[in-house]
Amino acid sequence: MERSQKCLICTPLIAKTVNEMLFQLQLAKESGADVAELRVDHITDFNAESDLPLLLKDRPLPVIVTPRAKWECKADSNEGYEGNEEARQDLLRKAYELGADYIDVELKVAGEFVKKLKDSSIKSSTKIIVSNHNWELTPSQEEIDATIEQMWATGGDIVKYVTTAKDITDVARVFHFLSEAKGRPTIGLAMGPTGMISRLLSPKFGGYLTFGALSKGQESAPGQPTVQDLIEVYRVKSMDRETVVCGVVGKPVYHSKGPILHNRGFAELNLNYVYVPFLVDDFAHFMSVYSESDFRGFSVTIPYKEDALRLCGDKVEFVAKGIGAVNTVIREKDGELKGYNTDCEGALSAIEDGLRHSGLATNSESPLKDKLFVVIGAGGAGKALAYGAKERHARVAVANRNYERAKTLAESVGAEAIELEKLADFRPETGMILANSTSIGMEPEVTKSPISKDALSAYSLVFDAVYTPKETQLLKDAIEIGAVDVSGEEMFYRQAFAQFKYFTGVPAPERAMRDALSSPPVAHKGSQENTGPKMSAL
Ligand code: NAP
Repeated sequence: MERSQKCLICTPLIAKTVNEMLFQLQLAKESGADVAELRVDHITDFNAESDLPLLLKDRPLPVIVTPRAKWECKADSNEGYEGNEEARQDLLRKAYELGADYIDVELKVAGEFVKKLKDSSIKSSTKIIVSNHNWELTPSQEEIDATIEQMWATGGDIVKYVTTAKDITDVARVFHFLSEAKGRPTIGLAMGPTGMISRLLSPKFGGYLTFGALSKGQESAPGQPTVQDLIEVYRVKSMDRETVVCGVVGKPVYHSKGPILHNRGFAELNLNYVYVPFLVDDFAHFMSVYSESDFRGFSVTIPYKEDALRLCGDKVEFVAKGIGAVNTVIREKDGELKGYNTDCEGALSAIEDGLRHSGLATNSESPLKDKLFVVIGAGGAGKALAYGAKERHARVAVANRNYERAKTLAESVGAEAIELEKLADFRPETGMILANSTSIGMEPEVTKSPISKDALSAYSLVFDAVYTPKETQLLKDAIEIGAVDVSGEEMFYRQAFAQFKYFTGVPAPERAMRDALSSPPVAHKGSQENTGPKMSAL
């Protein structure tokens, strides 16, 4: 295969009966997948003579026949072909004879198997995939290269090398061997939560195919995207070597709505960009390994905003430096990293517009001028809010669970510090602004609020940085007492629009990006970061 051929999307089908698998094949076709992998080792009492013709007859899309050997599966899994090795290889031979589009045979037995097949009188157009799975780690580049040469030496048509990523930087070695495949059709993937980008970016590095689950809940490996994610969110069918990569760096990160938002923006403007989640353990190491110029823009989230500030050194823009946190890093043409903070402008402009639209202010100057602005929280978002409010000449007060942190932040911006317990009685005047920047009220603890409803009566506007859910308990209470409410979702949009401009140099298509979140194609299954690698090597 020439490298110019587009990367195929393959969906693994795991069913207990032939009928169920036939049904899934139809669904696979409808999902937009290019290929389906028939994991026939999952079918109970599979009979190659009678069942293979049923599966291959009138198939709606090309298929890979895989009776995965038990000895190739993860040691503690129940997976793998139940019969003996001879019957398993007979099954593969039969699939070859019947003209399956692909068969998958493991490196350990491939040499002899392929030789016998090619020496036999059977004529077939079936392509042979020679596969190898490492359930422990991603070996060194030298080891990988040596194994891949062994795989080619078997005489197979396609090589599939699957590793386990212990760290996101391991995936760089997978990208490396895909890039160096020199036109030989190669599949490379890294399993495990930190291996996710190997699935999303495979087309950029010339991968022959990548895997996506048939639907949400049917992932066969942690962090596996669905076919619909791959097509609609990540647009892998149009991805190529030139695609510019941006993404959100954090831990955890798979709950982020950034991919849905930014990718819709790129699609709207027909930009050859993609935005992916980077689940990272060491920010500086990650940035040093993915140092190519086309890894261009990074949204930085918990817990790396201060690491990002340090890494950008003296190339940090004024506001980010003042706040002490960088939430956007851009790799410039000369390779230098430049840091920005878009949280501040995102939150403050949303609050100002909230006041203006509700008639509580005129347009002439910042409606925050001289207002008493109370920030709850002294973390990254709290710093951005306190700094931004002070810049707009508000009088600022900071309340935080850890009072020492409240004092430090208050001192740095010229504000008053309040003990969190005393916040309910803090009512020096009415018409104050309240901004929550703690995670209190965030899913799943949606009934919690950082302040009682009674205490809200002194505020004319309440902002909550939490954006999952969109309407938090705090905002519900604010609406009930008649205060103006401004949601964290509005801040999220605005900080993202500003990032989009830094990434691409052009203004964000705001309408399309807002629509993306109100009708997302597919959301990732959350909290996969904490589950260890398990199940199929797909
Ligand atoms: P952070 O730096 O970790 O700071 C967390 C803050 O929350 C600290 O002040 C912490 O107080 C406080 N806190 C956490 N749990 C608490 C609890 N149970 N009771 C009282 N205080 C508690 O995090 P961050 O980056 O500032 O983010 C904070 C929130 O803002 C998150 O919910 C995040 O999703 C949201 N956010 C939203 C946007 C947006 O675009 N809408 C952007 C950034 C952040 P201590 O100092 O006492 O630990």
